[in-house]
Formats: sequence, structure tokens, C-alpha cells
Amino acid sequence: MDKIRMVTPLVEMDGDEMTRILWKMIKEELLLPFIDLKTEYYDLGLANRNDTDDRVTVDSARATQKYGVAVKCATITPNAARMDEYDLKEMWKSPNGTIRAILDGTVFRAPIVVKGIEPCVKNWEKPITIARHAYGDVYKNVEMKIPGAGKAELVFTDEEGRESREVIFDFKAPGIVQGMHNTEASIESFARACFQYAVSTKQDLWFGSKDTISKKYDHTFKDIFQEIYEKEYKEQFDALGLEYFYSLIDDIVARIMKAKGGFIWACKNYDGDVMSDMVSSAFGSLAMMTSVLVSPDGIYEYEAAHGTVQRHYYKYLKGEETSTNPVATIFAWTGALRKRGELDGIGELARFANALDAATVETIESGKMTKDLALITSLENVTVLNSEGFIKAIRERLEGRI
Ligand code: NAP
Ligand code: MG
Repeated sequence: MDKIRMVTPLVEMDGDEMTRILWKMIKEELLLPFIDLKTEYYDLGLANRNDTDDRVTVDSARATQKYGVAVKCATITPNAARMDEYDLKEMWKSPNGTIRAILDGTVFRAPIVVKGIEPCVKNWEKPITIARHAYGDVYKNVEMKIPGAGKAELVFTDEEGRESREVIFDFKAPGIVQGMHNTEASIESFARACFQYAVSTKQDLWFGSKDTISKKYDHTFKDIFQEIYEKEYKEQFDALGLEYFYSLIDDIVARIMKAKGGFIWACKNYDGDVMSDMVSSAFGSLAMMTSVLVSPDGIYEYEAAHGTVQRHYYKYLKGEETSTNPVATIFAWTGALRKRGELDGIGELARFANALDAATVETIESGKMTKDLALITSLENVTVLNSEGFIKAIRERLEGRI
């Protein structure tokens, strides 16, 4: 069989720990035998980020701007423990944070729904897609530890040198402060990405923030969404019978638990970070959640929503068997290949991506799965496989389909 030819390379961002092991297995078993895979490779493993003073992360984001589509493996965000473990020169920033700051845009996360893995919220009949704003707020914050008594202020200096000030707090004793920002342009593109995605997937859009408490910051998000909705999308929404619904974030959270699903939930950056883990766990497993960053200029970066699965990696290093679920990482690759196929007009590539998705879902539905899914499935006669065995079982089905 001839391998599928590619024209433009995918930007390939390799990562860390257990997901780096899965990455290699997926390429070798599920991609390279079928595709003449063209990638521009960037090693975002922590050791190489440290060696390159994190330049590799910036370079990979720039390459994504150049080529348009990237696929990323999960990466370690260093903390104090990692400083020692990897003997780091610096506590490098979160690669996702760096990439999102360069590409801007919105992250859409949707659960991969399979028969036999029912959400633990039993009224969730359809997937809930989280649209996470991927710029600013606490991810671009500036923080200070306040050593003792004194006044903390917000100061804005305009281009003419005029200052405006707000007192944050008059400290009488040590404390902490944090400064955050966002830009109207980024919020506008977040809003447009959400409305656009709602229209293209024909789903309602919900959005919540804390505008009653944050009368300027969060209220700006609310106002921008409303304005863009009325000016640019209301007609399309009406024509498609779709609803845009804004409420306080706490009200939204309460309603989500009672809802049937089948809509997009737009979240500010932090809310999206936290809530997507909740939603994906409730739909089954963190490993059953897809994630794609869509930038305002139409650049796509696909990844899994989970981390590097450190606990499994340490077991793996000790030679113990692990059953880490590769599904979200497989879907990151298929998402990227499908998009590359669409952009380059290579129908075969998109069809291959669909076949691999289907083979993956069917493997689970046939009762072959990793341990995380076996623990929660309603299927009987389940075979628990290790990562390698599971990937091999997918390959068998894929070969049957092609
Ligand atoms: P994690 O890697 O998502 O894993 C947390 C736990 O969730 C695991 O211990 C495992 O539970 C379960 N899990 C997650 N993915 C799984 C999979 N594919 N198959 C089976 N079980 C899975 O989060 P973490 O352990 O908090 O973080 C580890 C590292 O990942 C950190 O250094 C963090 O900075 C990084 N991280 C990266 C990204 C990213 O690059 N996008 C996102 C989040 C975290 P059990 O142990 O109970 O089996
Ligand atoms: Mg998170």
C-alpha cells in the first residue's frame, strides 16, 4: 500500500514523561506505517527547554504561525520539585502559556464520547464543549510578596506620561498582591471564536463571568460578548434556532449540573482551565478530552487536555506495567492531520484521520481498553490492556478499515 503523501509539514511539539512515551508509540504504530509523515520537529521536553533557555518553545510557536497547524504532546510546567529533578537553570514558564500568549485565541475542549463510558452526571446526554479564552488574566499575571506595612497601588501611565491610580490595599502587615490584564482585541476574538464555533457546530453558547463583583474587568467581557452577539451573530443564531445565554459564573455552574449538554460553555482563562478538568472527568476520564487552540487568524494547535501522567511514568521507569490511556493524544494527531488535509486539499489525509478516530472508539466499544476506562465502564467482559497492547489493538482495527 502506498503511504499517504503530505505537502505542508505539521509542527510537531514533543513533550515529557509518560505522554512522551505514548507519543513515540502512536507515531510508530498508528501513523508512520500509513502516512509519509511530514513534520517540523521541536523537542519541548523539559531537558531541551532548559538547554535552549526555553527558546525552543518560542520557536515552535513561531513555526506554528508559519505553517498553520501544530500537534503538541503534554509538557511539564516546572515547579520547585522539578527544579531539582531536572537541575533547571530557571523555573521556565508553562509552555502552553508561552504558546497561547504568542498565538492568542480560544481553546475548545470536547469530550470523546463512547458507548459504555457514561458520564457520572447522569443527565448529561450530550457532550459539553468548553471554550477557554487562552490569553491573559492570571496566566500573564505579575505578583508581589508584600514584606510589611505599606500601600499597594495600580498605576497606569499613558503615552503622555499622565498617571491614573487605584489603591489596592493599605497593608499593615505582610501580604500578597497580583496584577492581571487582558486586551479588548483578545476578548473580541475570543467572543467571535465562540460565536463562530457555535454556528459551525450548531450548538447553543453559554457564557458566565463574575461581573457583579468585578465591575470593570469581568463586566468588559460580558459587554463585549453582548455587543458582538447583537451586531454580528444574532441573526444567524435566530435563523438556526440557537441561543446565546449569559449569566453569573456561579449560576452557570449550577445550571450545568442540571443540563442535558449539547452546548458550548465559554469560560474565561482560569475558569476554563479548572472546569475543563471537571467536565472531562465527569464525562469519563481526563484522557477522553480533546483540545484545540484556535487563533483569531485561523491557526490551529491540537493537544490532549491532560498532563504528562507523572505517576504512571515513575512506575514505567521502575519497569512496572502501566495502562496509560493514549486516546486524547491520538485525537490530537488526528485533529491536526485532518485540518492539514483540509487546508492542503488532501482528502486521503482527512479520511485517514476519521478512520483512526473510528478505530479508536470501536476498540473501546468492543471491550478493549486501558485501566482508567475499565474502572468506569458499564460494558461487561472487558479486557484491560497496557498502553502498548491498546495501541496495537487499535492498529488491528485500523488496518481492517483501510
Ligand atoms: P495529569 O498528568 O493530567 O495526571 C493526573 C492524573 O490523572 C494521573 O495521575 C492519572 O490518574 C490521571 N490521568 C491523566 N491522564 C491520564 C491518561 N492519559 N491515562 C490514564 N490516566 C490519566 O496531571 P498531573 O499529574 O497533575 O501533572 C503532571 C505533569 O503534567 C505536571 O508537570 C504538569 O505541569 C503537567 N501538565 C501539563 C499539561 C499540558 O501540557 N497540557 C496539562 C496539565 C498538566 P491515576 O494516577 O489515578 O491513574
Ligand atoms: Mg488544568
